[in-house]
Amino acid sequence: MATERTLSIIKPDATRRNLTGKINAKFEDAGLRIVAQKRIQLTKAQAEKFYAVHSARPFFGELTEFMASGPVVVQVLEGEGAVLKNREVMGATNPKDAAPGTIRAEFAESVGENSVHGSDAPETAAEEIAFFFSGLELVG
Ligand code: GDP
Repeated sequence: MATERTLSIIKPDATRRNLTGKINAKFEDAGLRIVAQKRIQLTKAQAEKFYAVHSARPFFGELTEFMASGPVVVQVLEGEGAVLKNREVMGATNPKDAAPGTIRAEFAESVGENSVHGSDAPETAAEEIAFFFSGLELVG
């Protein structure tokens, strides 16, 4: 399997509870390398732009308000099959359905406040990485 990069976001519910290190340990334990990382505060407009694909969903307002409610840590994870591997480490969207040991099983508070975002395919990963990072900021 090829080396890939994927975008990860540690969401405001997790930064609020000081879980950045514990979540990063999950990535590193799974063999993913954090090749870029920064802590930022999104505006509502930036969150709406990032999640534009979900704009017709009933929870769009709630999701974008939540994502702008506190700091997030945006990061690029690199590794063999990183997109899929990260989705496995994250666990299912709803923590009630997430497999034991996954980030969402251990840390997520609800289906909305579920601690992490991860790109769902290599193409979206490239777009999402470019949304937050310039090439100069990615140091493998
Ligand atoms: P993901 O790829 O596992 O993050 O899931 P989706 O792409 O389906 O949804 C994107 C994000 O929208 C999720 O991670 C949640 O934060 C949020 N979300 C999804 N479903 C719901 C819902 O039913 N209610 C609320 N409030 N948020 C939701």
